[in-house]
Amino acid sequence: MTVTLRLPPRSRARALEGHPWVFASELREPPPAELAGEACALRDARGHLLGSGILNPASAIAWRRFSQELREFDEAFLHEAIAAAIARRAPEPVRRLVWSESDDVPGLVVDQYEDLLVAQAATLAVERRAAAIEEILAGLLGPAEIVWRNDAPARRREGLPARVATRSGKPAEPRWLRVGEVELWLDPMAGQKTGLYLDQRSEYARVARHAAGRRVLDAFCYGGGFALHCARAGAASVLALDASDAAAGAAARAAARNGLADAVDVRAANVFDFFSAERESLFDLVVLDPPPFARSKQSLEGALRGYKEIHLRALQRLAPGGILATYACSHHVGRDALLGVIGSAAQDAHRRVRVLEVASQPPDHPILPGMPESEYLRGFTLSVD
Ligand code: SAH
Repeated sequence: MTVTLRLPPRSRARALEGHPWVFASELREPPPAELAGEACALRDARGHLLGSGILNPASAIAWRRFSQELREFDEAFLHEAIAAAIARRAPEPVRRLVWSESDDVPGLVVDQYEDLLVAQAATLAVERRAAAIEEILAGLLGPAEIVWRNDAPARRREGLPARVATRSGKPAEPRWLRVGEVELWLDPMAGQKTGLYLDQRSEYARVARHAAGRRVLDAFCYGGGFALHCARAGAASVLALDASDAAAGAAARAAARNGLADAVDVRAANVFDFFSAERESLFDLVVLDPPPFARSKQSLEGALRGYKEIHLRALQRLAPGGILATYACSHHVGRDALLGVIGSAAQDAHRRVRVLEVASQPPDHPILPGMPESEYLRGFTLSVD
């Protein structure tokens, strides 16, 4: 490692407190452009080592730590980090194997769907080492196929183009995948994220424990994970909505595949329009798992209005004694903000709500102390009088 970056004297950079990111503006000098995608060390003004990181001067986040030691970001390091990430996971057929900074490979996500791996590269340094990473994954796990879903919008911030490709060069076919008590439709080349919302998989059965005999609304259903589990658990009825035709189509096919076509009504619809149009329908269990309304700090205010609106509408449609299971998947919307929105919606709706259960992201999406961005998923299950 030839180059060392420095923080200026009296720096207040979060990297001094263990955060793995350094913004370009926090560095003593601008990082050398020719080192884009390479590893370099970071030291504080007195010369103490803060770690080794990957550099991208074109990104707002110029440096991302991958090690607290002096290390190269080479094949030996990647093998070690990926093998350690896999070793930390519970042995399950469907799981997240590698999650970026939380697993010391900033910008790399690898999800396992049985014998299929779906990977994402979100940093220039990972993009450049994709071939080596593919070989490491193949050697460690022997998957039938590796798909690169390099079409996430975040890649633009690193100056990377959108590209979906497979190791074999052949397109990966959509397929059925067992998730908990049901089979869901996985489209690894075109589905949202890497195909499924893996971070919600353990929530389906947990929420479904409240479903027996209840009229259920799964308001942002995607492939139908909540809806189908609730139907399986004996819900009186299930209505599943998603604004995406592809998602609603996949959820409807999954209902049929699981023998639940009569139990689950899937509609391609905007939830806000549905609530405005159908003022009479009542439910006993509503699941709200919306997309991250807040993608940045700047959009937080508007996002909180969106969250409040959706909670107000849901509370107005819940019969007395009902249950609301609600999630926010943006680190900008913290626990207090989400509870605040729910409380204020309950005030407006003249309903009394109580938290029954608290949910977070699963342990294969590890939260890093010192990196608030790594904690992004919160949920509450509430009783509604
Ligand atoms: N609960 C799902 C994940 C939901 S992700 C699961 O566990 O798989 C959020 C979903 O909301 C996406 O599928 C997206 O297509 C959908 N969506 C976004 N805006 C919407 C809106 N206004 N109305 C309905 N669905 C919406």
